[in-house]
Amino acid sequence: MKKWFLFSLILLLTVLAACGNTEEPQEESSSNDQEETEQETAENETENETNASEEIGGEVNLYTGRHYETDQELYDKFTEQTGVKVNVIKGDDDELIARMAREGEASPADLLITADAGRLYRAQSQDLLQSVDSEVLNENVPENLREESGQWFGLTKRARIIAYNKETVNPEEIQTYMDLTNEEFQDKVLIRSSSNIYNQSLLASMIALEGEETAKQWAEGIVNNMAREPKGGDRDQAKAVAAGEGDLAVMNTYYLGKMLNSEDAEEVKVGEQLGVIFPNQDSTGAHVNISGIGMAASSKNTEQAQALMEFLTTEEAQKQFAEANYEYPVNPDVAPSELLQSWGEFEAQDINLSQLGENNDAAIKIMNEVGWK
Ligand code: FE
Repeated sequence: MKKWFLFSLILLLTVLAACGNTEEPQEESSSNDQEETEQETAENETENETNASEEIGGEVNLYTGRHYETDQELYDKFTEQTGVKVNVIKGDDDELIARMAREGEASPADLLITADAGRLYRAQSQDLLQSVDSEVLNENVPENLREESGQWFGLTKRARIIAYNKETVNPEEIQTYMDLTNEEFQDKVLIRSSSNIYNQSLLASMIALEGEETAKQWAEGIVNNMAREPKGGDRDQAKAVAAGEGDLAVMNTYYLGKMLNSEDAEEVKVGEQLGVIFPNQDSTGAHVNISGIGMAASSKNTEQAQALMEFLTTEEAQKQFAEANYEYPVNPDVAPSELLQSWGEFEAQDINLSQLGENNDAAIKIMNEVGWK
């Protein structure tokens, strides 16, 4: 009897234990896992919301001199994350500035994007912008690429380089902007007119770094060495070099990027014939300019405007924003595109870009004096 009782007890316990092991705990653990997963997902969603996609709503009116489809994709992404509708008004930089001035306080403009710091300075000196104090912007945009009181911030960088004909020029012989004025390059230099702000800014940077006298000497030498009277844009100078009208063209890096990626086979061919020289690498550095953004003095949507400014400087946006136009990102944490990397790293001028605007009048005066058309 005792034995039988013990046996039954053991059997009962075994069965009970088996039931417990195989069913209940498994169910429990599986339902626990599920809950945890759901909880984690919920937590991640909340995190994402607070990090990148704070719901702001409303709208923002952006006046921009840029006109790339990929820019629009970025604005759409911003709208998706914040609920802020971006109304884009495109135009020529100077026309947009004139329009803001005309519209005055009634202007619907919240933001202005221009190519060239000289133009942002123009808007600033007409009191068309207001200061923005943002930790995000100050962190993402290096100090020399923004106005010190926050009137404007660089978004993308471009270098003004010397493009040379790979068949006829030994790049060792030309290292600086001043080398363009050497006697051996008489009638070989292609550069656009003095009315163009890129050349005004280049000369303004020389005034800032080397003084007016040297800047004037350079401008004089350039006029002496011009292959022809200035005409056309940067790309036309490159085309003239490829066509043998001269050997050296002064141009912005992104135009070369555009030509190499053009749908026009002729432009690609021109781009392939040219080499890139980053000038003044052992001295003052290559001239760098920006396309940049400022908040309009008239802005009625300042919260939305600041949010878009900040968004455009984030790592996420910078890569796409810069690559849309074959430019360099301003955010130092973002690498430039492969094409730009293939041209090599370079030293840039170490000046605050406000000086391009401050020295603009002096640059134009010099150009007039030396007869740069
Ligand atoms: Fe341009």
